[in-house]
Amino acid sequence: MAEIERRDFVRGGALAVGAALLGGRVHPAGEPRWVSRGRDADLLLRGGLVYDGSGAAPTEADVAVAGDRIAAVGSGLAAAGAETVDLAGLALAPGFIDVHSHTDLELFVDPKGESKVRQGVTTEVTGQDGGSIGPWTGDRAADIRERYRERYGVELEFHDLAGFFGQLERDGAALNLASMVGQGTVRGYVVGDDDRPATAAEIARMRGLVREALAAGACGLSSGLEYVPSAFADLEELVALASELRGTDLPYASHMRNEDDQLFAAVEEALNVGRLAEVPVQISHLKAQGQRNWWKCEPVLQALERARADGVDVMYDRYPYVAYSTGLSNLFPVWARDGGTEMFLARLDDPDEAPRIERAVRAKVAQLGSWDAVQVTSTGAEEFAWARGRRLGQLAAERRQEPYALLLELMIGNRSRAGMVGFGMSEENTARFLAHPLGMVCSDGSALAIEGPLASGSPHPRNFGTFPRVLGRYCREQQVMPLETAIHKLTGMPARRLRLAGRGAITPGAFADLVAFDPDRIADRATFEQPRQYPVGIAHALVNGVFVMRDGERTAALPGRPLRPERH
Ligand SMILES: [Zn+2]
Repeated sequence: MAEIERRDFVRGGALAVGAALLGGRVHPAGEPRWVSRGRDADLLLRGGLVYDGSGAAPTEADVAVAGDRIAAVGSGLAAAGAETVDLAGLALAPGFIDVHSHTDLELFVDPKGESKVRQGVTTEVTGQDGGSIGPWTGDRAADIRERYRERYGVELEFHDLAGFFGQLERDGAALNLASMVGQGTVRGYVVGDDDRPATAAEIARMRGLVREALAAGACGLSSGLEYVPSAFADLEELVALASELRGTDLPYASHMRNEDDQLFAAVEEALNVGRLAEVPVQISHLKAQGQRNWWKCEPVLQALERARADGVDVMYDRYPYVAYSTGLSNLFPVWARDGGTEMFLARLDDPDEAPRIERAVRAKVAQLGSWDAVQVTSTGAEEFAWARGRRLGQLAAERRQEPYALLLELMIGNRSRAGMVGFGMSEENTARFLAHPLGMVCSDGSALAIEGPLASGSPHPRNFGTFPRVLGRYCREQQVMPLETAIHKLTGMPARRLRLAGRGAITPGAFADLVAFDPDRIADRATFEQPRQYPVGIAHALVNGVFVMRDGERTAALPGRPLRPERH
């Protein structure tokens, strides 16, 4: 846990929890707020193999929880009146932090956050890829509000991050949520969706909005340089906005401009933002996409190591799958999407533009491997439900259609609102990226469910399986890294990166975000064919001291909170 917070606790008083009523060896801790409740602990988690989130080897210990905090850690603890839960045979870790999540508005639709909670995730970090909850213009907010009211019967009452946090606090959610501010969202607010440089006045306004979001508790600035309108920012503009982070220690997180043929240049651009703005850099979902780029894994990692040695605080995150997920429109070049959906659809129909667009798309598909490297995940229009979960090549053959013609039909018929996964990464690189000391783990996915309003489509399995997959497939089966290292990547490492004080650690005074799982059994079950399956092997999960998973089942509790980073 962060030093500042520890000092606050110590300042609170001098009572050593454990000395009076908790027997055995305990770490000393300052007087916590809950002592006035007249109890030492509400809950005693007994005999688990404790991985404290620091990367240290585990020790068998008891963990006492009082209110929303960890009161004591040690062997042979006792606490009068506390409920005892036996964790023999289970590993106990800090709750997992999903450092690049797309759970933005989902918690208002279904606050249970089920596909994440059931993976042991206790904190989502959203506002990624340049897109965040606000700032939204009046029109944009009205548009989104209308869509959510119509589709889910949900009332969204905000247009910026401060309001979002406020409603989240009032409505409640199963897990905690932190958010970055999206450079694309900010650009959309000030400049719109057009491909043009921002004026000096516009840059000043954008900087003001970033400042405002940071004051409201954003935990960094994200960009999504393959997306409209984020992509229309040049290096200078990115540096200007990122420099608002200077002195906060919070990162500029980037979905880079390219993840395949121009990977090196894209990495260099991200590093340059860090160098020029003098801020930490987090490369989002680092990968070397397309078989002909697989060799770039090692050189890229070396480039990051070199940059670190030269003083750039660069790190990255990665999900444990060989396929990525994005909008189907991402097969089309950014210039074709300039100006937004309507202009994009018009260009597909324009005889002057269409051939150029087709050539670019075919080159992109060739780089992925084939049309079967593209699987449709969702379609905005129900009448295209037949395409969901299907590979474009196979589907085209079945329908006796040329694949590009099928793709156009899907784009136009769904007004560009369709999703895809693209298979284009190597297994070996995936393991390497996951295990490297600079890498942490993200799902790049949202809180979904197998039933209810968030159960539609054929989503990427990472929404359901990421964290158990790292611990089961990559740690236990492939042994790409020790379990304590993997747990550090899911807990202490992201907590520190985003300055989430008191999170990601099992230590007295830290928040009681905890997950107990069976290390011999934990596994993901979601596949690309059958993605909506919860993992196995997670016994319990607590958020702020309250069970959200108990004995393998979800509880009804909504103890999550908005998390704001610790400020200097
Ligand atoms: Zn992304």
